[in-house]
Formats: sequence, C-alpha cells, structure tokens
Amino acid sequence: MASEQITTGKDVLSFCTKCKLNLAHTIVAMKDAKSIAKVKCNTCTTIQSFKDPSTSSANKTRTKKKPTLTSKGSTKIISISDLWMEQLNKTTAKSQPYGIDQKYKAGDVIDHTKFGPGIVQNVKASTIEVVFRHEIKTLVHNKEM
Ligand SMILES: [Zn+2]
Repeated sequence: MASEQITTGKDVLSFCTKCKLNLAHTIVAMKDAKSIAKVKCNTCTTIQSFKDPSTSSANKTRTKKKPTLTSKGSTKIISISDLWMEQLNKTTAKSQPYGIDQKYKAGDVIDHTKFGPGIVQNVKASTIEVVFRHEIKTLVHNKEM
C-alpha cells in the first residue's frame, strides 16, 4: 500500500501547545512535500507549528541547556575592575586631575573627582573613553574654554 500522502487538509497527530496534548490537527501549510509547517488544532482551533509527537519529548530534554564552562573556550570574561586593576598596574603614567579643557592621550591616568582614578583608553577629537574602578565612561576633553 502506498504511503498516505501528507498534504493540507489532512489530519495529523501533533502536540498542541495550548491543549498541552497530542491531538488531531488539520494541516494548513506545508514546508515541502514531506514536511508539515503549520497545523490547526481540531480541539481548540489554534494554528501553530507542527510538532511531531514522537520527537517532542526528545526535544524537551534537549532544550534544557546546561551551562557548560568549557563552551566559552579561551574567551575569559574579565570584569571592569579587573581591567582597571590591570591597566593601573601596567601604567607608569602619573595621574593628573581631570578637566574638560585638558587634552589626554591613551594611557594617561586621570584623577576624576567623582569616579576616582581612571585610565584613558580610546581618544577621539573631543571625547576620551576612560576605565574607572566600576565603569567605563566617555568623558569630554580638549574642550576650548
Ligand atoms: Zn489545541
């Protein structure tokens, strides 16, 4: 006997996400000749993606992802304070008070009245990116007074 063709309008068993049961659904859309895209629940009439009841239980166990420490590989996440500490230890620059009319260059250490010591990272024409103990800030510099 030739296998029954699956096509729109036919009934299939699919897992209804609303009824939370494997129920008879009517195929409303096909992905291709062999795979069903959308089905309509015969019980609650919700149109949803076809969920093969024979594979849905397998999917359930797979969706519960375990956070694996090795998955990140060599990319070590360092916190801002780690970065700040590392930069401060590395630099030999003397800290200087921060002022928006001053001109800074990368590697300069500034002493901010509010944020404390920070190391200048990126320098643009009128702004500098500075690593402070708890945050990275973009500050104005080189401003004509
Ligand atoms: Zn339903």
